[in-house]
Amino acid sequence: MLALLLARRGVRVTVLEARNDFERDFRGNTLNPAALDALESVGLLEGLLDLPHAKVHRFVVQAGRERRVFADFSRLKRTRHPYILMLPQARFLELVAAEARRYPRFRLVMGARVRELVREGGRVRGARYRTAAGEACEVRADLVVGADGRFSKLRRLAGLDREGGVSGGEPPMDVLWFELPREARDPEGAGAVFRYGRGALLVLMDHLDRWQVGYVIPKGHYAHLKERGLPALRRSVAALAPELEDRVGLLDDWRRCSLLSVESDRLRRWHAPGLLLIGDAAHVVSPVGGVGINLAIQDAVAAANTLAGPLLEGRLKTRHLRAVQRRRGFDARAVQVAQGLAQRWVVAGALDPESDEPFELPRSLKLALKTPLLRDVPVRLISYGLLPERLREPGKGRP
Ligand SMILES: Cc1cc2nc3c(=O)[nH]c(=O)nc-3n(C[C@H](O)[C@H](O)[C@H](O)COP(=O)(O)OP(=O)(O)OC[C@H]3O[C@@H](n4cnc5c(N)ncnc54)[C@H](O)[C@@H]3O)c2cc1C
Repeated sequence: MLALLLARRGVRVTVLEARNDFERDFRGNTLNPAALDALESVGLLEGLLDLPHAKVHRFVVQAGRERRVFADFSRLKRTRHPYILMLPQARFLELVAAEARRYPRFRLVMGARVRELVREGGRVRGARYRTAAGEACEVRADLVVGADGRFSKLRRLAGLDREGGVSGGEPPMDVLWFELPREARDPEGAGAVFRYGRGALLVLMDHLDRWQVGYVIPKGHYAHLKERGLPALRRSVAALAPELEDRVGLLDDWRRCSLLSVESDRLRRWHAPGLLLIGDAAHVVSPVGGVGINLAIQDAVAAANTLAGPLLEGRLKTRHLRAVQRRRGFDARAVQVAQGLAQRWVVAGALDPESDEPFELPRSLKLALKTPLLRDVPVRLISYGLLPERLREPGKGRP
């Protein structure tokens, strides 16, 4: 996203992507209102809506027979897109890359894994990478941006430290992901219901022809789950999502599952001379609320707003990088604190392995969801974070 926004402004950009394509199993597939607004302002929304997608207008929490609307996006007033758009992440990234390729100053190298930073005179001057064919290459730049995700290599190469202690506390859960086919008869909106059981939570992400199922377990309990065996897992999934009972038999091998160790962290400093980290590389957030993609896109918008001018004029200074962190660090921290509250309030209780009581939604949560001012807090945080970014485009370049 940042590369597209900078190339539009006339900045020469090279994107190095380690993979040969954008296909990845078990990834987020949501785009939130702030991300949709940003995509609309670069003319990508129509193309996005032409792709097969689903729209989610509200998130619902369900415990037993009790259902409550947790976030009603149709209540949002400031956006033309009061919903969460769901589409496979690979299609979204292909669209962004195709748009960026229209700009002659944009270059995308697939299969290019960054291995080293080029440093000279106490600052980062570029990156060294290896191609899929094993060739060692180097690219030089006024600025290297690490947008390389939760296992960021650039974070390690630069030796940037995490902040001590996690805002909001350590996430109390891990997520087991697997896929099951989606049938036309599956209830409308099934993908927007967060189902609470005792000792597990279940979310269904709509991938149009299949469900990406997230089975949330207490942190570190995967070995215990495996010990109990696949039949127990299948029974639990069918109990939480009865519409999947006819297909849970397909879950016949643990290799169909992928374990996500849920983490939440943030770098103390997102930059070094000549280097900036954004997205998950700068701050990994928990999956609560599905906001990681939104935060990453908003980082890109803020970075483009702040850096395009100085890059074009060859006057980029560390203070510009600091300004990006100052703006976005606040939002990342606020989201992590809110996620921490949600984790304590509505996740940890449900996942408590010691309790054999059936889980009920906390009374305080039910009350909050009925209170006009409070009930809009989750909607706003999920949709925009605390500081929505608007793209500024003085004198944008032409393709
Ligand atoms: C299973 C799962 C489900 C999720 N569900 C949601 C959801 O529903 N909604 C949501 O908002 N968020 C979700 N997230 C989080 C979301 O995916 C991330 O917050 C978001 O993708 C972060 O974007 P990013 O660009 O910072 O990093 P990424 O999307 O991780 O992109 C990093 C890119 O860098 C490349 N790369 C890595 N190392 C190198 C290297 N050395 N050289 C070159 N390239 C490299 C990777 O191949 C990758 O393409 C989920 C995450 C996971 C793991």
